[in-house]
Amino acid sequence: MSETRNSVWLLDDQLSPHAASLAHAPAISPPPVVLMIESRQGGGFMNFHKHSLVLGYAALRHRAAELTQAGYQVDYYPLSAPEKNFQQALTAHVRRNRIQILRVMQPSDYGMSRALPRLARNAGVALEWIPTNQFLTSRGEFRDWAGDQKHLLMETHYRRMRRKLGVLVDAKGKPEGGRWNFDGENRLGRREYDRQNQDLFNRLPPRPVFGPDEITREVMREVDRYFPGHPGNTGDFWLPVTRAQALVWCDHFISHHLAGFGPFEDLMLRDDPFVHHSILSPLLNIGLLEPLELAEKAVAAYEAGRVPLNSVEGFVRQIIGWREFVNGIYWLKMPGYRENNALGATRPLPGFFHTGRTEMNCLRTVLGQVRRFGYAHHIQRLMVLGNFMLLAGIDPKQAHRWFVEMFVDGYDWVMAANVFGMVLHADGGLMATKPYAASAAYIDRMSDYCQGCRFSPKIKTGPGACPYNLLYWNFFARHAERFAKNPRVSVMISTWRKKPAGEQAQILEEARTFLDSLS
Ligand code: FAD
Ligand code: SF4
Repeated sequence: MSETRNSVWLLDDQLSPHAASLAHAPAISPPPVVLMIESRQGGGFMNFHKHSLVLGYAALRHRAAELTQAGYQVDYYPLSAPEKNFQQALTAHVRRNRIQILRVMQPSDYGMSRALPRLARNAGVALEWIPTNQFLTSRGEFRDWAGDQKHLLMETHYRRMRRKLGVLVDAKGKPEGGRWNFDGENRLGRREYDRQNQDLFNRLPPRPVFGPDEITREVMREVDRYFPGHPGNTGDFWLPVTRAQALVWCDHFISHHLAGFGPFEDLMLRDDPFVHHSILSPLLNIGLLEPLELAEKAVAAYEAGRVPLNSVEGFVRQIIGWREFVNGIYWLKMPGYRENNALGATRPLPGFFHTGRTEMNCLRTVLGQVRRFGYAHHIQRLMVLGNFMLLAGIDPKQAHRWFVEMFVDGYDWVMAANVFGMVLHADGGLMATKPYAASAAYIDRMSDYCQGCRFSPKIKTGPGACPYNLLYWNFFARHAERFAKNPRVSVMISTWRKKPAGEQAQILEEARTFLDSLS
């Protein structure tokens, strides 16, 4: 009797050494072939930043080399292969290796989940799903928790996760330090940074640099060859591409930046795009690092007395709180979540999001960083880029596409809830109880961008008025009905309504002129 031939398809964001799809491989006889595909068509499907492409392909090639060394038979389809898309590569793989059963760990993105059964059917192979172990909350568990709640509160989910995982809680499930949330201590701005942190910061060792090896250099050449018009410069590539490098990167963050992460989480600096952020999302999202190990490392640093509780709690909140929460919402609400447009926003994305040419210092600075690194930290994404998109009424689909294309950590499962929910309020408040709208005062408090800008954060109308100020009131005027009863923003609506009619008219007229200038 002939033996059943199996293979495991490792997708390019399933590179964890503990990926569930490989966990049972040693027990299967004959051992499964490991399939890995670089889809040339997929890489060109959107205008992805070159660093995103280099990271994806270089990490995949390094993982293939590790698996080969560990004794696996790897069937690898590089960018240069004649099979230029998933279907062609999968079909070739099944025929060449006479595969009967294809095992795949549940993809993180909805689109790939939908496509896989069709790809397998066309290739003539049986598909077997392996439940994903890339997240700490299963899709069913989140669905049960969400039930029929109208608004989902991250805070409630987060506390449940702390108790479930035993992270920063005592035996009775009470939070370490007597509080669940230290956000009040974690909002220091530019002035506090100047006073407290500059000297300390200047003495920190630089983040590790990993010169590209021959594998990565080859990927860089191929990305330039196959995707010449994509944004970014392969020569500037800066990220780890193996688990060993990712662990060094992570330990550097824990040793040198975690202490400052909490207090300066919201700070934005012209000359330092990263401040004390971890830059771990690109590595987490492809599996080179795992969420629980990061939370445990941070807690260990706290227990050893090396970092304060407010920083560790702030970091843990991002990893086991926000990250799990946005993934849960995505799988709860797809398909359809990306069709939401509760605020009826239809304005096209202004061209300067691609060229960086704008007189607004904050946007110009952050857009320049994004073009160079494929990265901006959370507050830059939310309160500079996203805030502008919200206030200007940018079409959510165009905003989402831009973020997915430009960011090295840009995956649909994480972008969807962040862009449609958190930033644009397009889901009508399912994931964020208020719109994250802010005037220039916020940006001025949390950054050094306004110094030297052609606009002034303090001027509300007339020459030199910051566009964020005009757009802020214009936004609340436009959506007064919707938000008047929202306790978290109703005060803004009453403030707007109390403004003299002449001032209101001037704000609306100047906002309209500014918005017209964007097209
Ligand atoms: P840190 O500030 O050091 O935070 C630590 C980790 O917490 C991150 O690495 C990330 O894994 C997790 N995290 C924190 N906040 C969130 C969040 N809101 N959602 C999910 N994870 C979170 N994150 C992505 O991983 N991919 C994206 O494509 C992405 N797009 C975003 C788009 C917008 C408009 C906004 C507002 C946020 C987006 N985020 C995304 C969330 C967050 O901004 C990034 O995870 C974070 O900035 C990555 O940088 P870091 O690793 O230095 O994070
Ligand atoms: Fe941005 Fe306005 Fe400050 Fe200029 S003044 S940097 S446009 S917030």
